[in-house]
Formats: sequence, structure tokens, C-alpha cells
Amino acid sequence: AKCGTDGNFSSGEIVPFGPIALSPSAGVLNYGQGLFEGLKAYRKTDGSVLLFRPEENAIRMKNGSDRMCMPAPTVEQFVDAVKQTVLANKRWVPPTGKGSLYIRPLLIGSGAILGLAPAPEYTFLIYVSPVGNYFKEGLAPINLIIEDNFHRAAPGGTGGVKTIGNYASVLKAQRTAKDKGYSDVLYLDAVHNKYLEEVSSCNIFVVKGNAISTPAIEGTILPGITRKSIIEVAESKGYKLTQCASFKVEERHVSVDELLDADEVFCTGTAVVVSPVGSITYKGKRVEYDGNQGVGVVSQQLYTSLTSLQMGHTEDRMGWTMQLN
Ligand code: PMP
Repeated sequence: AKCGTDGNFSSGEIVPFGPIALSPSAGVLNYGQGLFEGLKAYRKTDGSVLLFRPEENAIRMKNGSDRMCMPAPTVEQFVDAVKQTVLANKRWVPPTGKGSLYIRPLLIGSGAILGLAPAPEYTFLIYVSPVGNYFKEGLAPINLIIEDNFHRAAPGGTGGVKTIGNYASVLKAQRTAKDKGYSDVLYLDAVHNKYLEEVSSCNIFVVKGNAISTPAIEGTILPGITRKSIIEVAESKGYKLTQCASFKVEERHVSVDELLDADEVFCTGTAVVVSPVGSITYKGKRVEYDGNQGVGVVSQQLYTSLTSLQMGHTEDRMGWTMQLN
């Protein structure tokens, strides 16, 4: 679907996957004027397909579009386009337990613009791909390295929105970490170089006793939809987790020192779902989290609570899933 600066998107169409034509002076190619989203469709055992909170992705794109000076599709247009795209590609949704269909909505400044300014035309498109686990480790613990030379985002920057440029800044640090055998990079804040921010494509949680802490949303980290859902699941009386009656979730500054005596650490994101962290390396020192066979009990139970809801194995008391027939 396309629109001019008035923001009235044309009704879109389903076309085969393939290259798209863009002017060499398109805003997105020259000035990074682009936003994306990521969500997944899971197949239930009865063959129907479930989307997980697609309106949250629509709202996040809308919020980001203001920061990027772009018009965005309405929540209804976004959710409808996601539904139509998934239905047209239903055969690509893997069977239950064999992965999911990853959905990638993109909003780009497709109009030609030479001087630095917002583009005169926008394109909203969605493509999909079947996917398995994000990390090769699967649910097995991942190994992170804390990066204190590169930063992902700075106060006043674009770290809080899902703009394509944020990912340009992490490519080098992520490649270096992977070459050294780490699964991914954990970033610190750019002001104090001391407080946890997030991993290249997921949010981070630290468990100590019955408190679960996660960096507060203050503009430099992405407000993850999995993050928000895990907070609600952990606080919910409906999901009994461990011996603890319920968890206290704290959204605050979490210092790097707190990792040293944490019981468990895990990451959340659409792609990674809930990934337990097995070790974190910082300034050459490695901290390990033992857990039960390497997977902490809280991470395991949150993973099970969330994925059984997303795959339709348990009743959706949260009202988070949208069934497509
Ligand atoms: N942080 C970053 C930088 C991300 O790219 C993502 C993935 N969208 C997340 C966190 C997790 O967000 P969500 O749970 O909405 O996928």
C-alpha cells in the first residue's frame, strides 16, 4: 500500500515475493527513513492459525512513525493487512511445534528526495517467512558478551522506536561477538556505561529471589511486546510459577553489577521468545548461571506459560491471541 504526505494509504494487494522498484534517491535508501515490525503466526493442532497481539505491533509502528516523520497505517489497516498476508500464505505456517511464520511489516520513505527531508511518498509492505529457533542453541542457554565500546542508542536518539538505522549501529559489535563464539551482545547505557539496556534484538530480565528486574523504558530501549507480555504473565495471579506466591516485577535502572549475583538472566523477544542466558562475559570475566540443566526454573516456566498461550495449547485468559481460520 502507498500514500503521499496526507497519510491516506491506498488499499494494498497481495503480490508474489520479489524485488521492489525504488528511486535511487528514495528517502529510505539515503536517510534511513524506515520502520519495521516483527511478529509471528503459530499453527494450532486443529490447523487454524494464531496471531499474537498484532495490534501492539500496529501501535508501536504508529508511535515510531511520529519520531521518523512518516504517516503510518491505522491499527485497523495494519492488523487487516497482516491477516490478509498470513491467510494468503497459510500453507507456509509450519505445523505445531515445528516453528512459526515470521511476519515482517515495513514502512519506508519510498518517495524521491535529494535534500535532507522526509520523503514525499511512503510504502507499507509485509513479507513473511517460515522460521525455526532464532539462536542455534534453541531453548538451551545463550552466551552473551557485554559491549562497552559501542552503544546501541543514546538519550534523544531513536533507540526507543523500531527504525532500521538502529540495527545498522549493532552490526559490527554483533559480528565481532559472533566471531568470538558468543550468541549476541548485551549493550550498556551510553551515559554511565553501567546500566543494562538490551541485546541486539531482545530485551533483558534479571531474576533475584522473587524479584524480576528489567531496564525501564526511557527512550533508549525498544518497548518489546514480549517484554510487556512477560511482565503481565509474571505478575498475573493466573499463572503460578514457582514456590513463590507471585513475582514482583521491577522496571528500573539495572546495574551491570547486579548480574554478578543474579539467580537467572533471560532475554525476551518475538524471535527469541524467552531465551535463558547461560553466561555473560564482561571485561574479560565470565559469570555463569547454572539453573536446572542450564535453564533456570523461572525462565523455563515463563517460556512454557507464554509459548503454550501463543500456540493455543492453553486457554488464552489474557485475550492476546487472534485466531485466523
Ligand atoms: N529490542 C530490540 C532491539 C528488538 O529488535 C526487539 C525485537 N523486536 C526486541 C527488543 C523485542 O521486541 P518484541 O518482543 O516486540 O519482539
